[in-house]
Amino acid sequence: MRKLLPVIQFSHQLVATKLQSGGHAVDATAGNGNDSLFMLNHMKKNAHLYIFDIQEQALNNTKEKIIHKFGTQEIINANRKIHFLCTGHENLKRHVHSKVKVIMFNLGYLPGSDVSIITKPNTTLEAIESGLELLETSGLISVVLYPGHDGGDKEANLVSEYVTKLNSYDYGVILYKQMNKEKSPFFIGIEKKR
Ligand code: SAM
Repeated sequence: MRKLLPVIQFSHQLVATKLQSGGHAVDATAGNGNDSLFMLNHMKKNAHLYIFDIQEQALNNTKEKIIHKFGTQEIINANRKIHFLCTGHENLKRHVHSKVKVIMFNLGYLPGSDVSIITKPNTTLEAIESGLELLETSGLISVVLYPGHDGGDKEANLVSEYVTKLNSYDYGVILYKQMNKEKSPFFIGIEKKR
């Protein structure tokens, strides 16, 4: 019997569908590298993956995970180009100069590390706005939000408010959320229509 998918798996399913037809991708919050690894598994040859995080440790964890799965950096780069960027996703447009098919945001803090280093409402919004400009037609911005931690509530509210106001001719916005559990993580997907 099929169960309801947890939010991360739900986001992965949509991301995989989008990457089937090719295109570049961005992991806006590397963390422990699970989303980067997932996207690499679904990206076509010669596609670029841009990986952002403000913590060196997160990028190292991500690099390690990718190398463990795919082999050396050289082997990986022969197929897909990976860019590790130790900077905030609010600087997206300074580092990504081509259109992309998918941008993943998995907000909050790095699990197993300093929980006071979290994504912040204003920079998250700035990055999502830049992401919308960089997105190809039919591309997807995937955002997983965590209202349960300190500061997460404010961020979740701000992002929710922002996406609700996006023009529906230009963007489709969906919400995937467990309704009967307070402050449970939730998913917002933004698809660029034209
Ligand atoms: N995607 C990750 C994975 O698959 O394991 C999980 C990401 S974790 C929940 C959130 C990450 O966002 C943390 O590693 C944190 O350092 C990072 N972060 C916080 N502020 C950021 C910013 N302004 N730009 C990029 N990353 C940021």
